[in-house]
Amino acid sequence: MKIYISADMEGVGGIVHSDQTDSSHPEYQRGRKLMTAEVNAAVEGALQGGATELLVNDSHGGMRNILIEELHPDAILLSGATKQFSMMAGIDRTYDAVFFTGYHARAATSFANLDHTWNGPTILQNAWLNNVEVGETGLNAALAGYFGVAVALVTGDQTTCAQAKELLGADLETVAVKEALGRAAAKNLHPTKAHALIRDAAARALASRKKRAPFTFKSPITLRLALARSSQADRCLLMPNVKLVAPRVVEFTHEDYAVLYNAFRALMVLADVHV
Ligand SMILES: [Zn+2]
Repeated sequence: MKIYISADMEGVGGIVHSDQTDSSHPEYQRGRKLMTAEVNAAVEGALQGGATELLVNDSHGGMRNILIEELHPDAILLSGATKQFSMMAGIDRTYDAVFFTGYHARAATSFANLDHTWNGPTILQNAWLNNVEVGETGLNAALAGYFGVAVALVTGDQTTCAQAKELLGADLETVAVKEALGRAAAKNLHPTKAHALIRDAAARALASRKKRAPFTFKSPITLRLALARSSQADRCLLMPNVKLVAPRVVEFTHEDYAVLYNAFRALMVLADVHV
């Protein structure tokens, strides 16, 4: 049984501030240890649940956060960037289930640590797929769904878990490792406790994975992005087939979600302008 883990950082227990996820800040070195330990808990649970192959995709920032020397030896680590499909690099039809660890709520969410969607809130304010508001959980779950693979476990703060269940189904296994009281404050479980919960949930998730349907959208699929500034929308319009549908709001439609996902990433590069 092959398991794919996309590991982000903002939703890791003990992490509440961007200093802890920013590689130029001294607090980051502890953040990456906490991240690696949560991934290990998910790997251990997956192995208990019957996993025989595990790919861990480092999905935060420059994607060189996980400490390979501290990673569970049964996992393969995909690290670094730029890589096709980014936070979902390496996903294909051969996987049996996907886990999202350390995930965070979508942009413009209250009571959610470091809520954002891809680039920070100074660039992207909201994103929708066929009128369903999505963050990274939705965008990435839909790419897993494109390959016929369902998400079986999401970990992060309580709001991330609630958003994931709303989108992917109430029966989704989630672990809230912290209760966010705001964008940069949370009540955190001790790592020992959080790891035990993640381990148990990962094992349970694989026991019930066959009941879960892949997350997909009816084709053609329209991606709508609300940018923070008009200049960012101007730059998105440089890409063929992108339409301005309201001030600062652009749309791109395609029948193939993999193409749309790549287009989204290109738009995020184009939109990275602060004038
Ligand atoms: Zn991140």
